[in-house]
Amino acid sequence: MNNLLQFDRDHIWHPYTSATHPLPVYPVAAAHGCRLVLDDGRELVDGMSSWWAAIHGYSHPVLTAAMKAQIDRMSHVMFGGITHRPAVALAEKLMALTPPGLDWVFYSDSGSVAVEVAMKMALQYQQAQGMASRNKFAALRGGYHGDTWHAMSVCDPVTGMHQLFNGSLPVHYFVERPVARWDAPWDEGGVTSLNRFFERHGRELAAFIVEPVVQGAGGMWFYHPQYLTHLADLCLHHDVLLVADEIATGFGRTGRLFACEHAGVSPDIMCLGKALTGGMMSFAATLTTRRVAEIISKGQAGVFMHGPTFMGNPLACAVANANIELLLSWNWQQRVKAIESQLEAGLSTCRQMPGVADVRCLGAIGVVELHEPVAMAVIQKQFVDAGVWVRPFGRLVYLMPPLVISDAELGMLTRAVVEIVR
Ligand SMILES: *Cc1c(COP(=O)(O)O)cnc(C)c1O
Repeated sequence: MNNLLQFDRDHIWHPYTSATHPLPVYPVAAAHGCRLVLDDGRELVDGMSSWWAAIHGYSHPVLTAAMKAQIDRMSHVMFGGITHRPAVALAEKLMALTPPGLDWVFYSDSGSVAVEVAMKMALQYQQAQGMASRNKFAALRGGYHGDTWHAMSVCDPVTGMHQLFNGSLPVHYFVERPVARWDAPWDEGGVTSLNRFFERHGRELAAFIVEPVVQGAGGMWFYHPQYLTHLADLCLHHDVLLVADEIATGFGRTGRLFACEHAGVSPDIMCLGKALTGGMMSFAATLTTRRVAEIISKGQAGVFMHGPTFMGNPLACAVANANIELLLSWNWQQRVKAIESQLEAGLSTCRQMPGVADVRCLGAIGVVELHEPVAMAVIQKQFVDAGVWVRPFGRLVYLMPPLVISDAELGMLTRAVVEIVR
């Protein structure tokens, strides 16, 4: 065990870590249901769904069976000149479930790539219409869209560390984070700066990219759906494509299958990832409308210019199909509502604590925002010692458990957060 940790420490990068001063890592040997099993035998209740992904928990028999069945037939085959049932079945499902009009599907390997693909689609669309001067993107401050180059260029410029890549990173436009809270009364004044922005820069934009209603890794902020409705109207009016990044919010996390539904919005392009395979493997999809797909195909290239090696991977499509069928087979809406109530009831006492700036819950997401950043190494150990897996970042301690978590397990999570934040 010491060897394993020492080797890891000496040779392996973890997300956003230092090679010389890495934070401690915890060896996990197995995972089942809503539990992670450490190498030393301790079991932790999972409060993270492995970053929005494991909505049905771990090692779900239906998902592992779907993968085993597919792997015995074929794990992968190229998508150039070839198609297969799992890819077609998944496209049919995604078209049926996503907001109306999203009739064309592009498969890729990860969320960040799905965002790159969306941005390329928007640029090729504008070029094909003779609008090559529309080559800028706009995004919200506090947003997160992935770690690859162009995805990073539309992440929040401060938390996304744009100054670090100054001069190399493309420069796009950022609009203030929506101030209107998810649950506050709507005030038309909340879109004044957005209106002004479109008047000034609307003509330069290929697309506006947003995380609908829930901003995730950029600050866990929940904004009013009316803001999104208004943004969609502005995009339509200015011939700017609306890209909905549902990579974190998709597949039930916010209480609706897709967060766009809260605002009744059908985007021009939608990015899916994370929970698409129920957290079983990395896979993503970028959906668009027939109109956008056809206009791209009339452009200079005559084709959409992207084609990853593992595009449409059959194993990933098979488990995504099983994941969606599993989700639709039970009353997850009711469960998410119950999780939301229990998160609110369980975390609300934090509101009175001196170090706490805000507590907010939406769907199966509960956030305690502190005034000061947490001491990661210390707080991580406290959570593990309390028997739960919760991984805060910056000033945010948050829970987004698998949707199948039991009341008792969720109680362990909220109690641990309350105790440790106290
Ligand atoms: C995680 C995430 C991404 C990036 O997905 P990866 O699979 O990590 O590349 C993009 N957008 C949002 C909203 C995300 O939460």
